[in-house]
Amino acid sequence: MNAKGPESYIVRTFGCQMNEHDSERISGLLETDGLRRAESDDDADVVVLNTCCIRENADNKLYGTLGHLKTWKDAKEGRRIVVGGCLSQKDKDVVQSRAPWVDVVMGTHNVHRTTELLHQAIEHGPITEILEEAVIDDHALFPSALPARRETSYNAWVTIQIGCDNTCAYCIVPAVRGKEISRPFADIVNEVRHLASQGVTEVTLLGQNVNSYGRDLSLAARRDGADVSAGPQFAQLLRDVGSVDGIRRVRYTSPHPKDMRMDVLQAMAETPSVCEHLHYPLQSGSNRVLSLMHRGYTGERYLERLAEARRLMPDLAVTTDIIVGFPGETEDDFVRTLEVAAEADFDSTFTFIFSPREGTEAATMHDHFIDPAVVAERFERLRAVVERSAWLKHQAREGRIEEIIVEGPSRRNPGVTTGRTRQNKLVHFTAPHPLRPGTYATAEITRGAPHFLEGKFVEVLSEPTHKIRIPVATVNV
Ligand code: SAM
Ligand code: SF4
Repeated sequence: MNAKGPESYIVRTFGCQMNEHDSERISGLLETDGLRRAESDDDADVVVLNTCCIRENADNKLYGTLGHLKTWKDAKEGRRIVVGGCLSQKDKDVVQSRAPWVDVVMGTHNVHRTTELLHQAIEHGPITEILEEAVIDDHALFPSALPARRETSYNAWVTIQIGCDNTCAYCIVPAVRGKEISRPFADIVNEVRHLASQGVTEVTLLGQNVNSYGRDLSLAARRDGADVSAGPQFAQLLRDVGSVDGIRRVRYTSPHPKDMRMDVLQAMAETPSVCEHLHYPLQSGSNRVLSLMHRGYTGERYLERLAEARRLMPDLAVTTDIIVGFPGETEDDFVRTLEVAAEADFDSTFTFIFSPREGTEAATMHDHFIDPAVVAERFERLRAVVERSAWLKHQAREGRIEEIIVEGPSRRNPGVTTGRTRQNKLVHFTAPHPLRPGTYATAEITRGAPHFLEGKFVEVLSEPTHKIRIPVATVNV
């Protein structure tokens, strides 16, 4: 940006890791264009809101925030507002009609155009650009293929797939993120190699249904005459990413239980760098509700696969997503969810109250919406079940020596170091000297609390190799 244009920016992110990763790319693009990151709105010339629309209230929050930002914008000449992400993809022109002071409205398929759109808005006035479909070009398509301003230097997200071909009745994702497209296998592995060369030791592979990764690539290759099997390639991807030199931890999210195959579980078990953690979204334990949701599995099948996973990886931590109050959910359906959750013995659970999203099938099932008081009561009952299993799981780790990647000083008590185990559990421990983020150390677990572990430092296993945070990294794939 030239001297007359904005000089600093701030990005506020709502929603999931996908959005956080998009925000890293938006930041990377703005920094490549010469802007620096501001510490607060007061110090910023551009505020970017990266929105989410998975659950209710996102709309109210966005328009509330935009109301405050009007005052912010009016206070200083040249200030700009950009709104991107799933909510703007869904609302399209509505954003600018309700908040005409917004400079740029963009969707989920044109993150790569952030700086061009900002330049156009500065020159010609407010602009809305929502693409209905992803552009078939790796640099445009996959957020991982754009410059990044990563939040940390020792771990990174890597997008392996965008969009979703499933039709879960409650979910707006397919409408705002488009059809499922896998990123070429070699590009992913090359990116991970590049990240490892920068000192990244932990990667999280991102997609909405990672188990089906590569099915589209295999089919396209077969259409072109290649002699390859038609199935997904996720198991092989885990093996190849997991064997990149320097990568000590591989994680992924989210798999879909209907597509979870033994080859993926075997690849997890046989690849030492793949962490003993599975995020395995249940949504409901009732077969009737699962069928209404179009999830494609039963509670029994879910538990069977989970038992296989635990047989192959006895120390596996399992986390999940559960929706309470899906339209038509009866007391019996809910009790079945409690039973399956208790049997699954989760390490932690993200519990969501059903929220009708306009444009989804479930949003049309008004006649079967559940009384909010009933939903609230079920939510509490489920919480009691999942918190009990989480706490017991944490207590069972007392006395064990755990490998921890250091995240930094604890926010509440800077004298305490915070990190994550391979099972993705938060550990607070006291180290004899400050440990740099990205250090691998061991600690003996002294207490398992409901949401975290406490430990006693044992030793440093390895120091981080990245020198300093590299503000903007451009990938070479
Ligand atoms: N693709 C992933 C999957 O299939 O599990 C997750 C996608 S979504 C971003 C994350 C979670 O939000 C879902 O697992 C679901 O539990 C929850 N969710 C999505 N739509 C919802 C809705 N309309 N109401 C309540 N929770 C919802
Ligand atoms: Fe939504 Fe289902 Fe796709 Fe997950 S798999 S993103 S819940 S439609």
